[in-house]
Amino acid sequence: MMNRRPLVIANWKMNKLPSESAAYIQKIENPLKRYPDVIPVLAGQDVLLPAMVEAAKNTAISIGAENMYWQDRGAFTGETSPAALEDLGISYVIIGHSERRNYFRETDEKVNLKAQAALQHNLIPIIAIDEAIKPRDDNDRSHWVVNEVIESLEGIPAEVVKSVIIAYEPTAAIGSGQAMTPALAQFSLRRIRLTLADMYDWDVANAVRIMYGGSVKPENAYELMIQDDIDGVLVGDSALNPDNFIELCQVAN
Ligand code: PEP
Repeated sequence: MMNRRPLVIANWKMNKLPSESAAYIQKIENPLKRYPDVIPVLAGQDVLLPAMVEAAKNTAISIGAENMYWQDRGAFTGETSPAALEDLGISYVIIGHSERRNYFRETDEKVNLKAQAALQHNLIPIIAIDEAIKPRDDNDRSHWVVNEVIESLEGIPAEVVKSVIIAYEPTAAIGSGQAMTPALAQFSLRRIRLTLADMYDWDVANAVRIMYGGSVKPENAYELMIQDDIDGVLVGDSALNPDNFIELCQVAN
């Protein structure tokens, strides 16, 4: 893992209410003190964020948004401004999740604009790489992943890109209960790191944190987390339960 601090990122999607978020944070806050090596991040829908930030004050837990727009202000009804997220005290933002790409037509070009805007506002972008939108055979896999990485990061300079997090999330594994095999996940993550080395250099490639996401749960997290290029996990369903989140942090530590 090359001195990269492991992360456990929960993606709550559209599953919790504002009144539920503080109780979750209070439940995990103390147990997480046993796992100081892990960076715990909770991502929630916009209406939860003020309550989440408030509950996570003075804890090691960071709060993330699940999406945002790339403009700071203007006539973009219903969108969320990166400046507003920064002002609220948000630290991370998921960009280009497969559900955004599939249901809301997010393209690599938009992902790139959002990633650049996030970085300008001190938000760490968690760029989700979703490989199964286009039909492919096995030989296609690396090609598709490589293209998404290149297009999502276009124009982002080396010194800045080091803080970016990439989340590799094969669509077939998301919400299916069946994670990709650790060996195949490692193969894809290695491919992503090689792409970063090609685009930038090994200094950058070794600094960027790369997550695996797709049906991670406490029972399969260890085998995934011990892979050389897997620096953490992005977790949906399983992390809705705070006990599971604590266990995932224990495994990652
Ligand atoms: C996700 O949607 O980001 C995800 C990883 O979901 P799940 O863990 O439920 O597969």
